[in-house]
Amino acid sequence: MAATAQRIVLASRPAAEPAAENFRLEQVPVPAPGAGEILLRTLWLSLDPYMRGRMSDAPSYAAPVAIDGVMEGGTVSEVVASNNPDYKVGDIVLGRSGWQTHEVANGKGLRKLDPKAAPVSYALGILGMPGMTAYFGLKEIGKPQEGETLVVAAASGAVGSVVGQIAKIRGARVVGIAGGKEKGQFVTEELGFDACIDHRAPDFAERLKEACPKGIDVYFENVGGKVFETVFPLLNSFARVPVCGLIAQYNTIEGISETNWVPQLMRGILTKHMTVRGFIVSAFYPRFGEFAGEVVEWVKSSKLKYREDVIEGLENAPRGLIGLLRGENFGKRLVRVG
Ligand code: NDP
Repeated sequence: MAATAQRIVLASRPAAEPAAENFRLEQVPVPAPGAGEILLRTLWLSLDPYMRGRMSDAPSYAAPVAIDGVMEGGTVSEVVASNNPDYKVGDIVLGRSGWQTHEVANGKGLRKLDPKAAPVSYALGILGMPGMTAYFGLKEIGKPQEGETLVVAAASGAVGSVVGQIAKIRGARVVGIAGGKEKGQFVTEELGFDACIDHRAPDFAERLKEACPKGIDVYFENVGGKVFETVFPLLNSFARVPVCGLIAQYNTIEGISETNWVPQLMRGILTKHMTVRGFIVSAFYPRFGEFAGEVVEWVKSSKLKYREDVIEGLENAPRGLIGLLRGENFGKRLVRVG
């Protein structure tokens, strides 16, 4: 009898929290590699929050898994048969075989792992995608500075644990947010964060505020939802918020309401890689010369068009302002006072 492989396919799309019936376990013959191909046997499958998104056909940055398609996922596998000169039996590779015990691959897109360098499963965690997420989210966006306060949610998890530890290396005060006492203890005692607050505690908001007496300079967003609402008022001027993940809203992805657009906004920021940065123009007043150098010339040469909307007499200023707020002005509204 031919050896059997197992795979898990997407049987149906969940409407909210995924349930067992959304998946189907199938037994299939172990596939045979053709010319130039290799047979992989999965050793490790990574489970990641993004997979919930792949189960949905709501518009996203990545295509959904098809119904009856094998669930996607990062894997560490052993080469068990090879018709490809680049791979020999016994090689360990990082790939994306998905939720299945075996896969025939052509060898492209795989990375060989050295089991002597680190446990091979690390390639799916701290030395792989989640570790890189933490590293670059901090380096490119969060930029924690010595003495600043960084907060990260899902603090005991794959990304959050690395975020907090790198921020400690950079000299920041690091406050984690995690669910439950045990995770909190791990985060402070094992990972060395300065504090960890339980987002399920009834006094979560007060405890977070106490833990961040100087406010929050970097909030590494992994969660969204209630946690984000609690963090937001504590953000300092010039705070940076790498929007990395919104796990609290993943199970409602199909039902995100048109009227409650905060979840839509956050999803847009995340999936479109947006940088949302506020500013007050006075911060740029010292750079007036730079501005004038270009703009004066553009106005003079009519490269820039400009329209004024003039109200006559100071007594009409209130009406002018009220109308402005209603959109009655057409151009830059001014009062000719004298
Ligand atoms: P984790 O290992 O941190 O596991 C997920 C954790 O999220 C849970 O353990 C839970 O921790 C927390 N969580 C779940 N639901 C809620 C909720 N409603 N409120 C608060 N916390 C919640 O996962 P990862 O480290 O792999 O991923 C963390 C985040 O980073 C995810 O949002 C993920 O999508 C995102 N991500 C983004 C990437 C990117 O490229 N932008 C790449 C990789 C990950 P607890 O019990 O502590 O609450």
